[in-house]
Amino acid sequence: MAGIGDTLAATYDFIVVGSGSGGSVVTRRLVEAGHEVLLVEAGGDGRGVPVLEDPRRWTEIAGTEWDWGLSYAPTPEVGGRAIAIPRGRVLGGSGTTNAMMWYRGHPSDYDRWVELGCSGWSWADCLTAFRRAETWAGGPSDLRGGEGPLRVAPPADPHPLALAMIEASGQAGHAVLDDPNGASNEGAAPANFNIDAGRRFGPVEGHLSGILDAENLTVALSTAALALLWQGDRAAGVRLCRDGERHEARASRGVVLAAGAFETPRLLIGSGIGPEPTLRALGVSVVAPRADVGDNLQDHPLVRGVNFAASRALPPPRDNGGGAILNWRSEPTRDKPDLHAFPVAARSATPALAERLSKADFAICVGLMGSKSRGRLTLTGATADGPLHIDPGLLSHPDDRKALRLGIEAIKDLARQPALAALTERRLCPTEEDDLDAFLALACGTFFHPCGTARMGSDDEAVTDPRLRVNGAESLWVADASVIPDIPSCNTHSVVTMIGERAAEFILEDA
Ligand SMILES: Cc1cc2nc3c(=O)[nH]c(=O)nc-3n(C[C@H](O)[C@H](O)[C@H](O)COP(=O)(O)OP(=O)(O)OC[C@H]3O[C@@H](n4cnc5c(N)ncnc54)[C@H](O)[C@@H]3O)c2cc1C
Repeated sequence: MAGIGDTLAATYDFIVVGSGSGGSVVTRRLVEAGHEVLLVEAGGDGRGVPVLEDPRRWTEIAGTEWDWGLSYAPTPEVGGRAIAIPRGRVLGGSGTTNAMMWYRGHPSDYDRWVELGCSGWSWADCLTAFRRAETWAGGPSDLRGGEGPLRVAPPADPHPLALAMIEASGQAGHAVLDDPNGASNEGAAPANFNIDAGRRFGPVEGHLSGILDAENLTVALSTAALALLWQGDRAAGVRLCRDGERHEARASRGVVLAAGAFETPRLLIGSGIGPEPTLRALGVSVVAPRADVGDNLQDHPLVRGVNFAASRALPPPRDNGGGAILNWRSEPTRDKPDLHAFPVAARSATPALAERLSKADFAICVGLMGSKSRGRLTLTGATADGPLHIDPGLLSHPDDRKALRLGIEAIKDLARQPALAALTERRLCPTEEDDLDAFLALACGTFFHPCGTARMGSDDEAVTDPRLRVNGAESLWVADASVIPDIPSCNTHSVVTMIGERAAEFILEDA
């Protein structure tokens, strides 16, 4: 892989900033199309590092050199706690550090994007790109891909807890599905994982490994993009920093920002595209005033967790520690599942709750995938590289607290079903005495799905148009979780991979 000091050319066709779930896909597709590409990644090369490769060890990565070490700001709704929000800082980005779940949600998640002004993003449009991205172990079908770079498979040897959760779901009256990415997502199913032969199969293995030696690709690792270089309103290159040294790289056809939901808005603001008062306060020349950069921040709240003491010793965790999922509606009047649960074959607790749970053997975590709370990201320093204030507004919408209370009650009921009751000695938390709102304030964490901070749309304030071109600039695209206008009801790695595929289509057509 080329390093920046000795191999930086004067000009590339494209510069891609960020090698994560979105950037890896765009890079691959641009390289395959024969373009000269510079891929800039702030993190290092994690290939061969056991903690990154072993699916069971993903929870150990946060707080290490492979993580950005960020937190959500403390808010009253979560008991004034700062909540860690890990982000991969490594080749492959958060796709190299995530929990490897591959789940696409409900078709109406994407049709909703069309309603919000994102023409060309219906489920039918997105499904083509989802299928292109994957090789599903169950073979190709109208709904699943058979030739894509990312391998996706159900658990090879499911943990007894995962099997018990699926069986208990059936006993509680939920549908039992073969595949949550099949014709329906409502019910219990074995999870889909980006795991192959017992190892993580993320953006590096899927999208990057086949092109790292390509002559038309340069990968600059441990190199931070600081700001865009402009020729008028055309993105003409990127100012970079590595080992304290500044460099400039030029792009003749354009720049693709794929630095994730926090760093992409920071780069836009630091380059003159953002709320005008912020740009003026930072002393940044205004290229395009865009009030919504950093706004519309969304995430899924995750309750960690409903914890249990087991009635017998359980085998050690397998896969990512889980192996099953359950999707259901908090209330029958909902038009699609908004609650999502998974088992953990170990204790699962926020730091605030952990001290109460020394005897926990397993947990069921419940997340709200139909969250209505919204927040924002703001730059708080005197310069654009200063600290971020990141507040997704977790639980700030009363409907979210209500849905999660119902979610916890549903998990208590699930655990009473014979298949789970057989594994359970007793429920440790929440207890019958616990007030559920107080429990939520302690137990609410994040599903690690921040998005929406550079949303696409067709209204005047949208940051990108539906072809992912930044409004007010030329030759500049965004291809990461920032562009999501409305958070879908699923984990976001598959969604951002799909966005990377769509971005590559648009860029190759437009540039
Ligand atoms: C711990 C964890 C568990 C998760 N579990 C799952 C899961 O099981 N399933 C799922 O679907 N989703 C999961 N997610 C979410 C999913 O991984 C993310 O939504 C997705 O990876 C985001 O992709 P992205 O391209 O937007 O950003 P990222 O993948 O984070 O990529 C951004 C890249 O840009 C780099 N970068 C940032 N700033 C700069 C800069 N200035 N210069 C150069 N490079 C820069 C970063 O280092 C990073 O490599 C999880 C996430 C985490 C962190």
